[in-house]
This record gives sequence, structure tokens and C-alpha cells, in this order.
Amino acid sequence: MIAAIRRRLIRLRTRIRETHALRARSGPYRFLVKDWRGLDDLERMSAVCGTDFFLGTLQPLPLPLDRVQRLLLLAPHQDDESIGAGGTLTLAGRAGAELHIAFVTDGAQRDIGYADSTAESIAVRDREAAAVCKRLGATRYNLGLSNLTPRPTIQDLDALIDLISRTAPDVVLLPWVLDRPAKHRLVNHMLALALDRRAGGQTKDFEIWGYQVHNALFANSFVDITSAADDKRALLALYRSQNEHCQRWDHLGMASSAWASRLLADAPTARYVEPFFTLPRDTYTELVLDLYSRDLERTYHGHVPVLEAIRRLIDEASAQGTHRAQEASRHETRA
Ligand SMILES: [Zn+2]
Repeated sequence: MIAAIRRRLIRLRTRIRETHALRARSGPYRFLVKDWRGLDDLERMSAVCGTDFFLGTLQPLPLPLDRVQRLLLLAPHQDDESIGAGGTLTLAGRAGAELHIAFVTDGAQRDIGYADSTAESIAVRDREAAAVCKRLGATRYNLGLSNLTPRPTIQDLDALIDLISRTAPDVVLLPWVLDRPAKHRLVNHMLALALDRRAGGQTKDFEIWGYQVHNALFANSFVDITSAADDKRALLALYRSQNEHCQRWDHLGMASSAWASRLLADAPTARYVEPFFTLPRDTYTELVLDLYSRDLERTYHGHVPVLEAIRRLIDEASAQGTHRAQEASRHETRA
């Protein structure tokens, strides 16, 4: 009911803006921006677009999936794994790899068309995730962080490390470091803090493969998923709550894989690729802790609940004497 009213309001607001835009004397776009000088995004945007030119000189490499025996994927939400790596998971499973998928948040949504309550939304998304894991033959884990008010603690970092120790993965997959949503970054931050906290204490080294969900990533590697495209489509279709009430991720997920097939050598055939930003574990940890802590406000684009949560977590980790977390905390105090 509330969701329907909200949708109607959004439609109405859009229509008012469109009408206003058509009549505006200054042209149909400018009135939307109050002050052009306040926009530093244009510069940033051109720098980001510039990274695409690397494709002319750098050759992203195909990932050796056949050498992966155990794979652990962290999904901030129930569907990120299929959007970013549904084909890769399918192919790894086909090649005999053990698949472990951990959902970090409980997926709770408010005022949403497919559920009458927050609790119901959690149950619906959990069922969908279970169906996806069943289809993939993957073991499912729920870390249970609230999606509405995430408050990760040191215990959550320990649970993450415990999961890594138990599953002993050759690779850990999660959304790539600059994926836009605050909670996707939060998961990266949690992993880096957890790894830093246990630096040297792990039994086994592994690689980090960052997958693409919300924005085009800087690809240094990829998996050609053309032979698993139908499987990816089938996985995405299982998330009816999201496809039918939020956004057609079943459509966007395939489109983003189609677009990423430009990483392959030119050929006149329809192909699908999942791109990755891959790093060795320790380099990844250093990158996230350094890059994210420079300016937490910017890293999280002012997303207040996540900012509060991460500040608390960094303080907590710092109080426990983790080296880099202490630096991050000092950084933050200075800023
Ligand atoms: Zn997500």
C-alpha cells in the first residue's frame, strides 16, 4: 500500500519535473542543478571515463577457474552474487569446485510490495537465496547484519575470519572496492579490517576477486561465461521479489555481462563475460584500509547509518590494538 503510494508520488514528481523542464527558459536541464560550481563530479567523471582507455593498452586476463578448488563468495545482499558472478559460480561448480556463499546482510526492506512486514521481506529474500544456492550446489551462510541499520561488531569480523578458516578458500569473491552502494563498501571494509586483525594468523593465502554489480569496474581479469549464460539467467530469475518490485536485475545482470564481453577479442557473436578486479589478499587489505580511510565521508558518500557503523567498528578494532585500524582511526580524527 505504502509502496504503491510512494511509486505514485515518484511518478508525479517526475512528471512535474518534465513539464517544468520543457518550459524552463534556461533550457531543459539546468534548473535541476542549483549551482554548477559545486559540482566536482565532472572532473572525477572524466578521470573515471579515462580509465576505459586502459583497455587499449592493458589486456585483462582470463581467470584460471579450473584451478579453484574452494571458493567463498560474500554477497552484501541476496542477489549480488548472481548479478556479479552467477556465471562464474556456475562454471566453477561445473569444474568441481566447492562453493560457499555468505550473505552479509539480512536483506530487510521496508514498505516493499512483496512483503507486509520487514520480517516477511527477510524471509522471502532468504528463501530466494536458498533456492539459488541449491541450484548452484553451494553451501549458504547468513552473517545476519541488519540491512536497514547495519551495526557490525568485532564479533562479526571474527565470524568472517572463522568462516574463511573453515572454508579455506582459494579465492574470496565480493563486490569490487569501488562499487557504489555504501553497504557494498562496508563489506569490503569489514573484510579488510578482519584480515588486518588476524594478519599473519591465517593458515592459507588466497586471492580476492572483486565482482561488478552497480558500476563498471576497472577490469584486470575476467571469466567468459557464454556457456553458462542460461544458468546465470535462471539464477537471476529466482529473485522475483527484486525483479518484480525493485529493479529488473535479471535484465541488467545479463546486460552488464553482455557489455563486458568487449574485453574479449572482437568476434561477430553474442557473448557474455563477468569482469573482475583481482588482487592478492594482502595487497587488497592494504588498498582498502588506505583508500577507504582517507576520507570516510567520501568513501561512503555521506550515508549516515553506514558511516556511524564503520566509525564505531574502526574505533573498536583500534581499541583492540590492530595496527592499521589505529592508523585509520588517527586519520579520521585528523580529517
Ligand atoms: Zn547489493
